[in-house]
Amino acid sequence: MRETVKSEQAFKESNSYFPGGVNSPVRAFGSVGGTPLFIDKAKGSHIYDVDGNEYVDYVLSWGPMILGHAEEQVLEAVIETAKKGTSFGAPSPLETELATWVKKRVPSIETMRMVNSGTEATMSAIRLARGYTNREKFIKFNGCYHGHSDSFLVNAGSGVATFELNDSPGVPKDLIKATLSLDYNDLEAVEEAFKRYPDEIAAVIIEPIAGNMGLIPAKPEFLKGIRELTKQYGALLILDEVMTGFRCDYDSAQGLYGIDPDLTTLGKVVGGGLPAAVFGGKKKYMDGIAPVGSVYQAGTLSGNPLAMAAGIATLKQLTREDYDKMNQKALRLTDGIEKAAKEYNVPIQTTCRGTMWGFFFNEHPVIDFKTSKESAQTYFGHFHKELLNQGVYLSPSQFETNFMSTAHTDEDIDKTINGFKETFRVLEEK
Ligand code: PMP
Repeated sequence: MRETVKSEQAFKESNSYFPGGVNSPVRAFGSVGGTPLFIDKAKGSHIYDVDGNEYVDYVLSWGPMILGHAEEQVLEAVIETAKKGTSFGAPSPLETELATWVKKRVPSIETMRMVNSGTEATMSAIRLARGYTNREKFIKFNGCYHGHSDSFLVNAGSGVATFELNDSPGVPKDLIKATLSLDYNDLEAVEEAFKRYPDEIAAVIIEPIAGNMGLIPAKPEFLKGIRELTKQYGALLILDEVMTGFRCDYDSAQGLYGIDPDLTTLGKVVGGGLPAAVFGGKKKYMDGIAPVGSVYQAGTLSGNPLAMAAGIATLKQLTREDYDKMNQKALRLTDGIEKAAKEYNVPIQTTCRGTMWGFFFNEHPVIDFKTSKESAQTYFGHFHKELLNQGVYLSPSQFETNFMSTAHTDEDIDKTINGFKETFRVLEEK
């Protein structure tokens, strides 16, 4: 068994300072129970808690650490940049340099704005779509998570789902009347909404590969259908690639699916582990943003030099081959997990999209929020806890996904598959 005394003590202390002892809800291990790991340090694919336990890390800070933790070139770029000053509140060439990488990898983005979090990116993209179209309604999908701004907190995934906090108090009821939340992968529902409100829908925003209700990829015909409907009805298509951008594939999800969105939001990997995010797209829409246009959006620390440096150092190292290798590792892992589950007669559905991978304890295919919620969540909690004892750190909720990095080794994958086997065995005995 692991020693957890120091994490427990740290959690007790942090509870006197932060609601739930944490600064973001899912970190509290609410749905899996037990004490959250308090982290001391991380290197490559491994993370170490304050008790000195070592884990193979598949959370990777919820996605950003695609090169693994404390990667040498990223560290050097951040340190060298910091020596020249940590924030200017004025433009610097680093912002343009990162933008060239974004454009190269996501060509639908003609111009963009740098922000500090995915929440800001999606919130600003919706405001822009509303401002441009002069319409107020928008469509999102049940179980998708687009950050914590008011308009999105309707049937949302991630922590909102983990803590069953749909209809968060504090969100004006009148505001969310303009949010139409439909079932994922249900094209007919989108069609009906457009027929019902042909001149009122500003945008459709979607995670092209949903990672906030577990991992559920959109069906290709669903995304294509949405692209056609948005064009037909004069609404903007916003692909929320905060999680999938530079992550699921070299060409991000839009390249993988061959979809040309009007606007895209990016986060996580684009900041290389520091706070940076992006919203961008066709220039004709982006020109609606102040100071060119009149849709307001701003940020004291936006385009922060350290975050830009970390993003550049990350993106410039990643090759197509890296993505192939990460995908192969993720496939080997999910294959091994599936076999282990079979051995112990545990019903499981595994999914792998590029470097994102996940699983549901469910007998049936999972295609939307409803089927995701039908998975065995209590068993997942027991499973997560025991797997920590095996030295493997997964996202602490069924409504999240897991990631692969270039730093994960074959030994890590073997250790993880063995950890799954052992966990199935221990739980069978209980
Ligand atoms: N959109 C998606 C698809 C996300 O996965 C997330 C965060 N997990 C966000 C938006 C919000 O990003 P942030 O936490 O940086 O505000």
